Amino acid sequence: MDPEGMVELANDSFWPDDARHILQIPLQEGVSDFTAWHYDNKGQHSVRNAYKLQVQLGRVNSQGNTGSSTAIAGNLNECVDPSWKQIRKLPCPRKIQMFTWRLKHESLAFRTNLIRRGMKIESTKCLLCGCAGEDGAHFFIKCKSVKAVWRALGLEKERQDLEEITSVHVMLDYLWGLHENKRVQILTMWWHWWNNRNKVREAELAVPSDELTRRVLSYTMEYLQIFSAKERKREQLKWHPPSPGTLKVNMDGGFRPGEGSITWGVVVRDDSGDVISAWAGRTEQVADPFGAEVVAFTQAISTAAELGALRVVFETDSKLLQEALDLGRVESSPYAALIEDSKFQLKMWFSRQQIIPCNVRLEFNDLITQETVISDAFGGPYTMEVHKG
Ligand SMILES: [Zn+2]
Repeated sequence: MDPEGMVELANDSFWPDDARHILQIPLQEGVSDFTAWHYDNKGQHSVRNAYKLQVQLGRVNSQGNTGSSTAIAGNLNECVDPSWKQIRKLPCPRKIQMFTWRLKHESLAFRTNLIRRGMKIESTKCLLCGCAGEDGAHFFIKCKSVKAVWRALGLEKERQDLEEITSVHVMLDYLWGLHENKRVQILTMWWHWWNNRNKVREAELAVPSDELTRRVLSYTMEYLQIFSAKERKREQLKWHPPSPGTLKVNMDGGFRPGEGSITWGVVVRDDSGDVISAWAGRTEQVADPFGAEVVAFTQAISTAAELGALRVVFETDSKLLQEALDLGRVESSPYAALIEDSKFQLKMWFSRQQIIPCNVRLEFNDLITQETVISDAFGGPYTMEVHKG
């Protein structure tokens, strides 16, 4: 790799401090790659291999395989490495996700690693105990000073299991086989432990083990609360395409008190997420929220029927509408006739249809805002259509 590429890559991939260190490592001719997780005898995981992966990712991106031509190596949002996708789902801050990714690619600057790269340091001994050589397995699992933290966290069994593991890949597999709480706890602990080590390296005061344990426990709890909830919400708010050969119709009705009419919107998309048809309009003489949902639904049915769709999924955020459409129920609202008619039409037009709840109201509104043609339609009755493809 050319030196400029190396600088860019290091700066993109690592924390500034580490990038500086990595860039200072002289690359010697004739020195083959080696492993930082010392007992991995396959010899496949090295700092240089982590770079190679990044370069490959960059190449894939710039060839357009993942769409974007502006993607650069090291831009983790564009990263196609499946392990990054997995790591990204960890309910913890980005800094710990990055740390985990570096752990996986063995790009943490352990002393055994640095010295074999030709860097001049006095010793390869562990900074914390001074006994063994400093590598990942020793530092995170076997060092007598870290053992105390494992015990305090109630994770001695897991620590012993990890002691038996001989490659960083198997180690991560093991972590992913654990309950999420334990996984986050261990990685959070390692992250703090690594920071502690760097403090010692800089001759700063390290956080005492009992304080570190307390922090790991409280941070983990916080992370799980904040980030798990975020992930769930993100998942819920995401629009999911229907199964192949099925159309999905999102619909929504809008009502504002004081107005003698309601607005409605319908968007039909195919299994690749492309908008096939979108309608919006205003209907007079209906003036309550439930009425708005019912009208939106009748519009959704006629739109899908006109498209000749046979298999359709209707998504609504109205619980009332879903209940009303439940075939076993007798409808007693002013919209009973409209609802009965809708049920009949569902059976008549479609070979397979389904009404499911959705939480994508926001996204739906976004679409309506984007398509100004549609939003204009909210001014007049039944006026607008957008076609695509
Ligand atoms: Zn040690």
